[in-house]
Amino acid sequence: MTNWLEVSLTVSGELAEAVADALARYAPNGVVTEQAVDFVNDEDEGTPVGDITVRAYLPADETLEETRQKIEQALFYLGMIQPLPLPVYTPVADQNWMEAWKARYQPIPVGRRIIIIPAWLESPDANRIAVKIDPGMAFGTGTHPTTQLCLELIEQLLEPERQTPGRDCTVIDVGCGSGILSIAALKLGAKMALGVDIDPASVQASLENARTNGIGSELVIAQGSVTEVLAGEFPLRQASLVLANILAPVLIRLLDDGLADLLLPGGTLVMSGILRDQAEAVIQAAQSKGLKQTAWRQMDDWVAIAFQP
Ligand code: SAH
Repeated sequence: MTNWLEVSLTVSGELAEAVADALARYAPNGVVTEQAVDFVNDEDEGTPVGDITVRAYLPADETLEETRQKIEQALFYLGMIQPLPLPVYTPVADQNWMEAWKARYQPIPVGRRIIIIPAWLESPDANRIAVKIDPGMAFGTGTHPTTQLCLELIEQLLEPERQTPGRDCTVIDVGCGSGILSIAALKLGAKMALGVDIDPASVQASLENARTNGIGSELVIAQGSVTEVLAGEFPLRQASLVLANILAPVLIRLLDDGLADLLLPGGTLVMSGILRDQAEAVIQAAQSKGLKQTAWRQMDDWVAIAFQP
């Protein structure tokens, strides 16, 4: 039976990404990060606060000692840039590994009305709309600031008083990953959604997550991107809400491919996955396609921006 060695470090948000990258190079199952959420009062939307714990699981086989040395070395170099705590090692038996890993995933409240929960848990908060996601499968587990920023904007844009009477909200989700944004939008009142992704694993993950959430034919998931949607290959060619949480250089390329043309008149495009210092380039690219900025949200170094024609 394989045993595993858990390596964990608790570091500032600033360093967490570099530490996660360093550990991910040696952890065949990826890394898990955890951060506390703070609520100032009942109205508070919940803000991630404090340090982040990064955990990775190494198979305890004949390569373990070598891997451990490589990790120590990678952390040593990182520590020269900014001081790091020593890693903590905890042995975990195989049959407990999945359980240990699952236990790390806790429900994440987002915005005012959403709570993201791992697929195997029941929602602890009946007042929030539960979005169930299986975290192992694709990007979009809800822990990343770019996903949370998008969800907050979706929630705001779908508030009942913002809806045009007699007009259904439809969604096109470019780079759907786990399907989290489309699933949330449908649960918040959107009538129909199309999620596309170039990665077949994301298509698979979105379909499974849709099923877990009891979502049926109101969500279409397909492999492809902006070009295929515009070519009319799927049931929706335009929508009132277009979402794209991908990195800035890809967003700029997709704008050139016609991302803005996916919008129905009066619709809103939400772009996320943008680092603060890349925002200007994305805004300029959007303006050159006739879009005007209507909202801006920031968390750590990440921003999400909404635009309208
Ligand atoms: N929408 C999810 C996932 C975002 S990760 C969330 O908000 O959490 C970005 C996703 O975009 C990945 O699944 C990746 O496969 C996909 N992607 C990357 N480049 C793309 C492109 N050019 N067209 C469509 N999808 C793309």
